[in-house]
Amino acid sequence: MSHTVLITGAASGIGAQAAKHFAQKGVDLALSDINEEAGLALVDECNHISQGQSKVTFYIADVSDKVAVTELFRAAKNDFGQINVLVNNAGIEYPPTPLHLTDDALFEKNIAVNVKGVWYCMKEALNMMLPNGGGNIINIASVAGLRSAPMIAGYSATKHAVVGLTKSAAVEYAKLGIRINAVCPSFIDTPMVQRTLEQMDERGQKSIVGASPMKRLGRPEEIAAAIVWLASDEASFMNGHCMTLDGGMLA
Ligand code: NAP
Repeated sequence: MSHTVLITGAASGIGAQAAKHFAQKGVDLALSDINEEAGLALVDECNHISQGQSKVTFYIADVSDKVAVTELFRAAKNDFGQINVLVNNAGIEYPPTPLHLTDDALFEKNIAVNVKGVWYCMKEALNMMLPNGGGNIINIASVAGLRSAPMIAGYSATKHAVVGLTKSAAVEYAKLGIRINAVCPSFIDTPMVQRTLEQMDERGQKSIVGASPMKRLGRPEEIAAAIVWLASDEASFMNGHCMTLDGGMLA
């Protein structure tokens, strides 16, 4: 793999694990997040993993801010020359709440980060990839983008939007050499899910962990491996696909 990969929300959880998997392959990495301290620590870790094979740079950027996203891609192009793969990973959670009691501000923030953030980054990436003759976009959706997700309806709406963006754009850009896919994880053991579990009683926690027939949370490495495969030429005929990684939950 001789690509430059840009990952948003890279400082934690699935994004951080994806960065480490790409670093193992010596891929150049443009890592972005709102958490600068964790982002810079990840740069050190990726440099250590790749043993100097990867060029790794961190950019602080809030994906819900269009101007910041434009600046992120401008800076990354300046530093790397090209972005071949975008991993659109930044996303925020949604404390389980009945829809009619949910604060509008929470829904609006979910739309801003989980939908507008994905949209802005896709647009910037497509504009950069098209003159280059190809590229690869991997959006991080969720099983909540494929089926009902009671108590997190607003989050579920944003992930359905990510699935829609993925499929429509994949068809639009296929003949232009750009593959666009999504991964749809169930509950994965990241800081995001740990924060959600902390707000639940024991029964609620058991229902989350037991939601998969495998009776465990997924591991960030299990999602990172799928992301790296989708980014590779081994997945060259995979396009417009929303890959469920859920231990069989939706089977
Ligand atoms: P995580 O551990 O919370 O990591 C997300 C990272 O994104 C954090 O570093 C976070 O920074 C950053 N971030 C938040 N808002 C941002 C913004 N506006 N701009 C840029 N970065 C921002 O979450 P995760 O579990 O790895 O989730 C990654 C993606 O997978 C999300 O899109 C999530 O919806 C999706 N997903 C997760 C699961 C799961 O079970 N974990 C399941 C399905 C889908 P702060 O920590 O400072 O906020």
